[in-house]
Amino acid sequence: MSGQNIAWFTNLILIYQSIINLIMKKVIVIGGGLAGLSCSCSLIESGAEVILLEASPKLGGRAYSFIDENTGDIIDNGQHIMMGCYENTIEFLNQIDAAEQLLIQDELRVPFVMNDGSIHFLSSSNNRYPINLLRSIIKFTALSIKERIRVLDLFLDLLCFEEEDLIDLTVKEWLLNESQDENSIKILWEVLAIGTLNSKIEEASAGVFVNVLKRIFLGGQEASKIMLPINGLSEMYVAPAAEFIRRRGGTIVVSERVTGVTFESDEVVRIDTNKNSYTEFDFVVSTIPLHALSKIESIEKILNLQLNQIKYSPILSINIWLSKNEFTESFYALVDSDIHWLFNHGSYISLVTSAAEGLINLTDEEIMRKTISQLSNNFCVFSPDLILSYKILKEKRATYIPSSESIICRNRITDSFGNFILAGDWTELMLPATIESAVLSGRKAAAKILEYNR
Ligand SMILES: Cc1cc2nc3c(=O)[nH]c(=O)nc-3n(C[C@H](O)[C@H](O)[C@H](O)COP(=O)(O)OP(=O)(O)OC[C@H]3O[C@@H](n4cnc5c(N)ncnc54)[C@H](O)[C@@H]3O)c2cc1C
Repeated sequence: MSGQNIAWFTNLILIYQSIINLIMKKVIVIGGGLAGLSCSCSLIESGAEVILLEASPKLGGRAYSFIDENTGDIIDNGQHIMMGCYENTIEFLNQIDAAEQLLIQDELRVPFVMNDGSIHFLSSSNNRYPINLLRSIIKFTALSIKERIRVLDLFLDLLCFEEEDLIDLTVKEWLLNESQDENSIKILWEVLAIGTLNSKIEEASAGVFVNVLKRIFLGGQEASKIMLPINGLSEMYVAPAAEFIRRRGGTIVVSERVTGVTFESDEVVRIDTNKNSYTEFDFVVSTIPLHALSKIESIEKILNLQLNQIKYSPILSINIWLSKNEFTESFYALVDSDIHWLFNHGSYISLVTSAAEGLINLTDEEIMRKTISQLSNNFCVFSPDLILSYKILKEKRATYIPSSESIICRNRITDSFGNFILAGDWTELMLPATIESAVLSGRKAAAKILEYNR
């Protein structure tokens, strides 16, 4: 190519780039959890320019994994369960080529372990939906025939309930109103509610619970299947999402905390961090949790609400390495127990207590004493002599409690202020704080920006 041709070609590229820049929006995404990563992936795939700012040295927010220094095993900050009804999560994992990292049940199958050690299965067998789910309740031997009929009755009535009409009722009040016996509340409903809402049935809003039940049980053949990450969470989605963003020219900056947001005429004009100031952008998406958001200068004014209405619920995870593992199921739900779930990872088991206010402030020794006594009671394959080592993980502000007060309070926050858009699990009013609500919120924020672009 001659010198003249090279100059002509370079000019052409510059003109092309300036045209692209005109239509390509520049977006700052604050927070590198599921909401921030899914938002960034959607934006960058549609041609936007993305800078993601994450305060901590690692991505993943409240869902990540790390290497346990004692054993060298990769463990999660807390076992995460997903369900077939997590449509946005599945789409996101497909987008970043990570869907094969999920272990998906062939059919709904949950072993319920009673205090006497007996196990009863909620299992949908191979029948077609919805017969399979109805059959699973009819065959759920943990409940008496009369209790099963009442449970079935309520499932059949689910479509008649409007979530919005139930906001002011707690889950417990709703279940009692609907003639559910104390026994089926304790054995079935409480396990479902604590597992999906990370909240006590006396606190969580029935509106959110009914929405969750509809998604799981009325969402089609796949919706009620449980999905578990095959590898650590960071390997499952953090690394593939970061790679997806970087490969398409996006910038990810960790260890950079946003400290201030400056508004002028209802638009954000500057973002300050502990290291830099940013003024070159078209949109800003914040995906950070509400309690952290309220600490950012000038944001608390636009939030303009009583954040003390929003309460958080802890999750306690206990990982125990065993010299011999004879647990036969990949997970168990424990009924009427301090421990709610046991996940079997082969060399170690992970025990999860949701809504763990009663345990989170105990010492490790006290927690282990209770845990050993509970496991010995429930499982004949467990003995304290099998324990090689353990690791206790406490997430004090794991998720907000989806109470009626929190719904009313969050409802007062507008989801966008000019070019400043709010996302994160807490922005989905009628969903609990989950992977799905985080991903959904991130993708919705991206869609909003792309809508402006048209
Ligand atoms: C132990 C545990 C178990 C869970 N189990 C389940 C489960 O089984 N199933 C399920 O679906 N969900 C579960 N969840 C909930 C799920 O993890 C969360 O709902 C989801 O990860 C929230 O994602 P997010 O992106 O909205 O928020 P986050 O993950 O909190 O991400 C926000 C990010 O913003 C960053 N940030 C904060 N302030 C700033 C700032 N000023 N500047 C820049 N960055 C900032 C944070 O460091 C963080 O990385 C669990 C959560 C925990 C903690």
